[in-house]
Amino acid sequence: MNAPRIGVLALQGDTREHLAALREAGAEAYTVRRRSELDSADGLVIPGGESTAMTHLLRSFELLEPLRSRLAEGMPAYGSCAGMILLASEILDAGVAGREALPLAGIDMTVRRNAFGRQVDSFEEQVEFTGVDSPVHAVFIRAPWVERVGDDVEVLARAGEHIVAVRQGKSLATSFHPEMTGDRRVHKLFVEGISARR
Ligand code: GLN
Repeated sequence: MNAPRIGVLALQGDTREHLAALREAGAEAYTVRRRSELDSADGLVIPGGESTAMTHLLRSFELLEPLRSRLAEGMPAYGSCAGMILLASEILDAGVAGREALPLAGIDMTVRRNAFGRQVDSFEEQVEFTGVDSPVHAVFIRAPWVERVGDDVEVLARAGEHIVAVRQGKSLATSFHPEMTGDRRVHKLFVEGISARR
């Protein structure tokens, strides 16, 4: 397969960092703001940022239902932090009514928004990551954690007892931001998963 075409949802958040990381990981990366750009993606990254603001913008840009449909049809996606929250099938502490983050159901998991944020706003930690040969330096910023995973979901990393990275099929989610460090191994896992035949 040629380099996969991977879109980065570019409504809000750290889009640029993901574009750079994906290119270094061997993908053809481009920004997604319209339906046609979403439709032509082999995979999609939902960046870190703010999940309630991103939900609001997904609605304004008329991308919420198209994105749900593409995920339901099996388009692979990778979400970091706010992106993990949106990829969930259920969100806890989603926000106040009318301004809450809505789940896109890309991965069968329950995610608690701002979970670490209540304890400590931001922190960094080395985490063991399945499929990556040595620990990953993980940057957590008002980060979520995963409280439940479905039977088809593999836990890839934990911080203490909390699940902070998962995979379901070719889709990935991390509570932390590998796009903010120079380490491209998590992006490579996503890109190479899409390139693989099955
Ligand atoms: N707390 C943010 C949210 O609810 C996520 C933070 C981040 O992406 N760094 O969306």
